[in-house]
Amino acid sequence: MGNSNLKDHKQIGQEQELFFTDDIAPGAPFWLPKGMIIFKELEKFIRELTEAAGYLETSTPIMVKNQLFKDSGHWEKFGAHNMYNLQLSDGPDDTKGEGYSLKPMNCPESTLLYRFRPRSYKELPLRLAEIGRLHRREKSGEVNGLLRVRQLTMDDAHIFCTEEQVNDEVSNILDMMMEFYQNFGFEPEFRFATRPEQRAGNDQMWDKAEKGLVDVLQKKHIMAGNKVGDGAFYGPKIDLHIKDSQDREWQLATVQLDFHMPEAFKLEYVNELGEKKRPVMVHRAIFGSFERFIGILTEHFQGSFPTWLSPVQVTLVPIAERHNEYAQKIAEQLKGKGVRVEVDSRSESMQAKIRDAQLNKVPYMLVVGDREQSDETVAVRSRDQQDLGSLKIDEFLGKIITEIESRSK
Ligand code: ZN
Repeated sequence: MGNSNLKDHKQIGQEQELFFTDDIAPGAPFWLPKGMIIFKELEKFIRELTEAAGYLETSTPIMVKNQLFKDSGHWEKFGAHNMYNLQLSDGPDDTKGEGYSLKPMNCPESTLLYRFRPRSYKELPLRLAEIGRLHRREKSGEVNGLLRVRQLTMDDAHIFCTEEQVNDEVSNILDMMMEFYQNFGFEPEFRFATRPEQRAGNDQMWDKAEKGLVDVLQKKHIMAGNKVGDGAFYGPKIDLHIKDSQDREWQLATVQLDFHMPEAFKLEYVNELGEKKRPVMVHRAIFGSFERFIGILTEHFQGSFPTWLSPVQVTLVPIAERHNEYAQKIAEQLKGKGVRVEVDSRSESMQAKIRDAQLNKVPYMLVVGDREQSDETVAVRSRDQQDLGSLKIDEFLGKIITEIESRSK
């Protein structure tokens, strides 16, 4: 777009006090209180969606013996050099120690959750979600703010199901992705990624997995571009791409079909006839990574986050010192309803206070003076300079709460 006024997410993160990075922890962001509000709101949203879709939330260890990744195939195919590996001893009497890794993905550990006890067909599909903290050894030249990090938080899930259930499960995941991204005004596009050169499993497995995903795309009449050879080493995938306000394309959500890992970890369930069967594993992430997604949103909205995500949703602007008390009273009322509000009681001019709130991209400014105080109203302005006139406090509350709860803008 060539707009020189555009800021990158690192600059906006500094100005709005959302997050920063420091050489003391390359590739791992520090979250300031206001940035953490955005993070937590997204977490809340994704939890609502997954709970409604029948997922169960779990958590698995960050540091595990690297034997796990040797068993899963990640050590060889994902690459041991892409992980943080440590030699750790159990205590002073253990001189040899053992190899551990910081997990670069949750998948192998989720198979342990599945294997915790024998499983019956009645439990399938078993949908296990995890908001997991991962570490990946990105090259120092490639680390970039939130967009390319070494420590990331993934909204991950693994679904263990029968072959007959794959179609419905993948189909529901694509619906969830659409719902999530359309909420931000994005128009998602899908891409189908097929078997890569470096892969696990035999051709028969891959034929079946690829056909499984093609069937879903056809059933849903989704036209997906192909990414030949871009699948995960354990299975093909459907990726979701979006374009941001600057016309840049980003790959975000992914759903992957996996016949390999259930085999590698000998996963089983007992079917209706009492026979042991292998489940299929479906991997999926909706944002991919919280860090990267927030980085993208920050640049896409140029810091003007939708109201439900805005760290501060309302700034109260008392015109003179004698209006501070009334402003405070309204602030308490809004806080009581869960609205995030600040009172600007500095002895600056009204114009300066409004300008600062606009610079900070606060969605609403409520100006209060003598008239508002006597009428029990607020003079409402939006961050895009719109004067929305005087509203009774309850009227404003109703408006902003509907906006926040519907996550509409
Ligand atoms: Zn996975």
